[in-house]
Amino acid sequence: MPLAPEDPVTRLSGVGPALATRLERLGVRRVEDLAFLLPVRYEDRTRVVPIGGVRPGGRAVIEGEVLLAEVVRRRRPTLVVAFGDATGMLTLRFFHFTARQQQALARGVRLRCFGEVRAGQRGLEMVHPEYQHLGADAQAGTDDGVALTPIYPGTEGLPQARIRQLVTRALAALGGAPPELLPPGTLAGRGLPALDEALQLLHRPPPDADLAALESGHHPARRRIALEELLAHQLAMRALRHRARRRSAWPLAGGTLVERFLAGLPFALTGAQRRVIAEVRADLSEPVPMMRLVQGDVGSGKTVVAAAAALQAVAAGAQAAIMAPTELLGEQHHANFRAWLEPLGVGVCWLSGSQPAAARREALARVASGEAGVVVGTHALFQEGVEFARLALAIIDEQHRFGVHQRLALTDKGSADGRRPHQLVMTATPIPRTLAMATYADLDTSVIDELPPGRGRVRTVAMPESRRAEVVARIREACAAGRQAYWVCPLVEESDQLQAQAAEDTATVLAEALPELAVGLVHGRLRPAEKERVMRAFKAGEIQLLVATTVIEVGVDVPRASLMVIENAERMGLAQLHQLRGRIGRGEDDASCLLLYRPPLSEAATARLAAMRDTRDGFEIARIDLELRGPGEVLGIRQTGLLALRAADLARDQALLPLVRELADLLLQRHPDRVAALTRRWIGEGARYGQV
Ligand code: ADP
Ligand code: MG
Repeated sequence: MPLAPEDPVTRLSGVGPALATRLERLGVRRVEDLAFLLPVRYEDRTRVVPIGGVRPGGRAVIEGEVLLAEVVRRRRPTLVVAFGDATGMLTLRFFHFTARQQQALARGVRLRCFGEVRAGQRGLEMVHPEYQHLGADAQAGTDDGVALTPIYPGTEGLPQARIRQLVTRALAALGGAPPELLPPGTLAGRGLPALDEALQLLHRPPPDADLAALESGHHPARRRIALEELLAHQLAMRALRHRARRRSAWPLAGGTLVERFLAGLPFALTGAQRRVIAEVRADLSEPVPMMRLVQGDVGSGKTVVAAAAALQAVAAGAQAAIMAPTELLGEQHHANFRAWLEPLGVGVCWLSGSQPAAARREALARVASGEAGVVVGTHALFQEGVEFARLALAIIDEQHRFGVHQRLALTDKGSADGRRPHQLVMTATPIPRTLAMATYADLDTSVIDELPPGRGRVRTVAMPESRRAEVVARIREACAAGRQAYWVCPLVEESDQLQAQAAEDTATVLAEALPELAVGLVHGRLRPAEKERVMRAFKAGEIQLLVATTVIEVGVDVPRASLMVIENAERMGLAQLHQLRGRIGRGEDDASCLLLYRPPLSEAATARLAAMRDTRDGFEIARIDLELRGPGEVLGIRQTGLLALRAADLARDQALLPLVRELADLLLQRHPDRVAALTRRWIGEGARYGQV
């Protein structure tokens, strides 16, 4: 039955509501989503190995005959099958099995099995192999022999065989592949295949396909799909900007409020701050929504720029919202803004997901009545039920922590009266220019390229972790002299829990080694209130040594902290190390950053640590980072924080970006119908992209 690409998956035969829910977890809603669900790796099941030749540890395809099957009852019933061919035998073992399965695996039945071979107590075995029955003529029932077997991203309750079957069915129902949306001739001479060819190869690669290139994502077929996805995002962002700029916004001509605020600050603005404030100000006074990104290194003083912008909104009788990526940082902004703005008679309020119901109700009322001119919060700001009286400016701090969609959701809040809020996006992560073009295609850019004067020097030293005792002595000394210190625990990939555990253990050990110090602990698993209590105590100087996971990476400002120890520094990216180190050297004291590493150092890690030692300039660090990053090295920015990409990877596919821009220009000029179709395919109707 032919289907349309955008039909829901439930139109495929055999897909009911339960299966559809599971597919949804893989991001699959429409029939064509199955075509774009790309394998994460492949297995070569094209070669049947004689059983006598299988080795433990690998995965293998074998064919043979059931010699004996019995249910052994130990702790739980186990179906044990002796299985052999002319060259040898092994055991198949099933811990979960149905009565029907048991009956079907009778003596003499011929099977083809695929699974991991391991050494059991009585010879080799395969536990829960995938298997299929072979007919009397011993021919495989499928065409597995002509293609490598794709392994798709998994989800509970959805076996690989089922996903493979669904993908095959979807491709067939679409007549081989979803329609080609790139104009004819676009890819000529670029070494990239057409869509149908690319998908055919990705889902059913021939046995001689370049497996390494397929799995690393560098295969032309894979790049073809990545190109299309990046193009769709580029188009969506450009369309968004285009439409946003056609809408009207409140022109925010400032009164004297901003001047009064700046005059009252205990420091003079840097030249860069003054320049950027002027750029923002000029944008805000226009009746068109501002869409501006402010890039400024850690400690360059972006908060003041945000406050000046917010005041311009308040002065014009409107509201500004500022969204922070964490509760901790949001609280800090809230405290700063209150201290700065309340003396000027400006109401500031705080909205977060974890605040008690009564406090939230009160805050919502102040936001809705307009009594709060400036609203600080986390992503709770753009949830249902948050109504602004007159939101004219949305400020998003540390943008790299948010997805593009979240950013856009906040700006939806102002649309009640038909006007759009101005957008000010701030980030401390200097990203290479090509990446910036892909990620922020919809924004103008300002750069704060100067640090405030009077900052102490930061000396950075790398040392092997065997010198820990020395490091502990340094902490003792610094704290005795009235300073404070951070101890940053190793990054434990993929597990908050392990990371929290490691931090707890470290805190215990350090508290024992330094009994005279008050040691505090923050990690991602603490409740926000607890985290905040510890941070507040650290800020107040009641805690001298703060053991932390990388949660302190963004924004936290404690000028007296002048020593930072970073464990396992060799495993962190340059951008992250730089962000962490940005927490110290904020006061006038000289500061030290000790990078502990576990030898031996890889060449790349050596170069990263050297870069940290040699410079403190975030843009220089970003440049070195890009240079160092060979293929396969991860970008210091989490991909999810940038764009939510399915097939592409901004770091890996960087080289495609110039082509992406070129094609975007071409499509916008000559193929507007394809623009819409591409955007729908990759970003969908539900996404907030482009709905301005
Ligand atoms: P970031 O750009 O990392 O967000 P912040 O806005 O938190 O930086 O500023 C870091 C610190 O520098 C804060 O304590 C802030 O009050 C201070 N600061 C900002 N601008 C100046 C300036 N022009 N002179 C001196 N100190 C400043
Ligand atoms: Mg900041």
